[in-house]
Amino acid sequence: MADSMKNVRARTAELPCRAAPQLFFAEDPAQLLQAKALCRQCLVRRACLTDALRRREPWGVWGGELLDRGEIITGRRPRGRPRKLGPVRRDPAA
Ligand code: SF4
Repeated sequence: MADSMKNVRARTAELPCRAAPQLFFAEDPAQLLQAKALCRQCLVRRACLTDALRRREPWGVWGGELLDRGEIITGRRPRGRPRKLGPVRRDPAA
């Protein structure tokens, strides 16, 4: 049991998001793109996205996608004038 917990901790420390967690919840669209790029190298990307969607994560990059209130969105606009419509949602199956 102690060995398996040690392994889990060691593997978690290797996740790309552990190196730069601030990118995954950034306001800057360029930093969010960097986070998505880091996810592409991650071995647990698919499981991470599935779990984040199940938990309806309120915000952030999870499994290589940007989530907003539990749904995948295509991107975040930079600061400035707000859009008239809500965020553009993307079908996770697409
Ligand atoms: S896929 Fe998930 S666990 Fe992997 S780097 Fe991205 S956010 Fe982290």
